[in-house]
Amino acid sequence: MSNTILKAPCVRLSKLEELYIEMTAQNCNLSCKYCYIDFKDKKVKDYIPIEKIKQNLSMLNKEQLNYIHLTGAEPMLHPDFNHILRLCLKYSSVVIHTNALNINDKKARFLRKVEEENNLGNEIIFMISIDHYIEKENDALRGRGSFRKAVHAMQSLIKYDFNPIMAIVNHNNTDESELKENFRQLCSSFDFETSDINFKIVPLLDKNLIREISPDTDFERLNIECTNSRTLTINGVFLCPLLSTDNRGKCGSDMNDYSKKGYIETSFCSQCIAHNNYMFSFKNNQF
Ligand code: SF4
Repeated sequence: MSNTILKAPCVRLSKLEELYIEMTAQNCNLSCKYCYIDFKDKKVKDYIPIEKIKQNLSMLNKEQLNYIHLTGAEPMLHPDFNHILRLCLKYSSVVIHTNALNINDKKARFLRKVEEENNLGNEIIFMISIDHYIEKENDALRGRGSFRKAVHAMQSLIKYDFNPIMAIVNHNNTDESELKENFRQLCSSFDFETSDINFKIVPLLDKNLIREISPDTDFERLNIECTNSRTLTINGVFLCPLLSTDNRGKCGSDMNDYSKKGYIETSFCSQCIAHNNYMFSFKNNQF
């Protein structure tokens, strides 16, 4: 019998350039069929307290930080969302990962004001989830009315001079240029002129699928979130948003006390490595 112990590959954080803050793990106002989050109780009050965010932000090296991302489930449902946004803008530009159900004309105007109030030049960037350029196809995946609301939110945002990014899950493994072209045409129909920076296309993840990881993989050079970010949640610090409820992804209690090493051992890791492009960040989109 072999005594060999198979060790999970280790990835090191090189620089903390991006911080994800999970505003809530369970609260969402949509029920997308394929969501990677394991919803147990959508009504649970699991919002991360603003005080916890404040304390953790004060532990960071501001100079290194490029972006703070607000994620969820649905981050805009946090009751202190506006205060948290203003707080984060004191540290860096802020990316809001949202289904956009809470964005209308009035909210977009307000958010423009919030961005202008901060005199550090930090921006608010929107990543709007939308999965298909045809209403019926999108709504079959994300719920009735979700397409119209996402389009309406984008129209409101561009009216107030924001430049939203569409976060698109590529359900059918469609050729990316074809997918972008179809979305480009959709956007042109409401006078939103897009370029490649406006599209973030990610594969559909399956938490039961394990892909083989090549032994020649140079983990430090991969474009994966755990090499340049950490995720702050109500329960501590995690390697990335995909693992924010998985104990294998936990790497510390706060931003003063977390590990720079991470072990790549989940089914999400194997798919993320095969993709080799950030799942959440637009770092590879050229601004
Ligand atoms: S899912 Fe990807 S980013 Fe997250 S820990 Fe695994 S390899 Fe790293």
